[in-house]
Parts: sequence; structure tokens; C-alpha cells
Amino acid sequence: MFLSVLFPSILALFALYKNKITNSGIILSWLLGIIICCLGGYTAFLALTIVFILTILSDKIKSTRDDKTRNIMQIISNVLTASICIVLFYFTSNNIFYIMYYCVIAGSLSDTLASSIGTLSKSKPINIFTLKKLKIGESGGVSLLGLFISLVGGMVMGSIYLIAQFNLMNFIIISVMGFLGSVFDSVIGTLFEAKYKCLKCHKKTNNKIHCMKKTKLIKGYSFIDNNMVNLLSNIFVFLISYFILK
Ligand SMILES: [Zn+2]
Repeated sequence: MFLSVLFPSILALFALYKNKITNSGIILSWLLGIIICCLGGYTAFLALTIVFILTILSDKIKSTRDDKTRNIMQIISNVLTASICIVLFYFTSNNIFYIMYYCVIAGSLSDTLASSIGTLSKSKPINIFTLKKLKIGESGGVSLLGLFISLVGGMVMGSIYLIAQFNLMNFIIISVMGFLGSVFDSVIGTLFEAKYKCLKCHKKTNNKIHCMKKTKLIKGYSFIDNNMVNLLSNIFVFLISYFILK
């Protein structure tokens, strides 16, 4: 119990030191970290820690984001579904939810890695549906490198799972779910994510404000931002992995 509070506290202090998450975001991730560590065990928390550290590292690669500080909505959209899996696992003692936890965070990790390292690809990303080339960093695009990295992200989480329970079939399921979560994220991003245009500098942006002025919605739905896309992608992985594992 003591260590289950200590480890998330160290991670929260690290986040505070790195200044990459707003204060409310840090408090929420600290609480969710304690829940995952207490109810899911150290390996589950290790998986979360790896996602967290790789996310911070990959933010350094990604230069296209306007705002690199993560807020409470980003924490909710990325960690809530995974936390629910651990709570369900604890109260039902059903191992399916434990495996689903790794599937869900594999999806988050794969998407994070694909949208940062994937943008390093020399070839421009393409829109999954129209196969037209997109600008680097524009969401909804896929590159071969991004797809490959998505699979690697899934395999990293699958490998952590193997530490807790050695089961190769579940390793494969987690790896594939990470990959699918990332692809689903791109699909939803392409179809529904809100895109805006700055009326002053005419740049396309994901933000409602640009150049200190309100931007104009040119594509998608205003309530579907990147956080909503991530949340929907997590829910997608949650449901698909449940039907595969049950
Ligand atoms: Zn502008």
C-alpha cells in the first residue's frame, strides 16, 4: 500500500518538474496512478509509467503542436478508460479486464508514438480514405512508418503484460489492439475531428483561437476535438477487446 502511493507520487513530482501537465491534470493523474497501482498491481502501473514517459519524450519530437502542456481533459481522455478496466478487474476478479487494460493503453501509446515518430517519415502522410497526401502532422493521416510504429507501441505494452502473466496469445491480442487503436484514431480524426481556419493568417489549425482571434470551422464537428477522438478510440479498443477476450 505504501509503495502503491509512493510510486505514483514520484511520477507526479516528475511531471511537476517537467512542467508538461497543468496542476489539475497532475492531481488527477496522481489519483488515477494510485488507483491503478493499488488495484492493478505494480506491472499495470509500470505500463502506465512507460506510456507517460514515452509521451513526454515524443512531445519533444513533435514540433507541430501549438501547445505542449497537457491539461486535465487530455488526462481524462487518455487514462480514464484504462482506469475503468482496472477497477472492473478488481471488483469482478475477471482477468479479461486486466488484459483489456493493456489493450486500451497500448492504443493510447501507439497513437502517441505514431503521431510523433510517424511524422518523421520522409514521405508525406496520406489520408486513409482518399489516399491524398496530407501536410506533415495533420491528424487523420497515416504513413507506413506510423503504421509500423503503431504495431511496435502495441508490442511494447504486450511485453510489459508478459511480466505479469506469461500468455503469448494475449501478447498478440494486446499488440494488435494497440495497432488498431492507433488506426481507428486516424480514421475518426479524418472523418469527424474539427478543423479550423485562422481568419487572420489563413493557416489551418485544430484550435478555436489563432492569432488571438476566433477561427472558422471548416471541417468536422466542433465538439469532436483531439481529446474526444482519443476517448472514442479508447472506447473502441475497450469494446473490441472485450468481444475478442470474452
Ligand atoms: Zn493565425
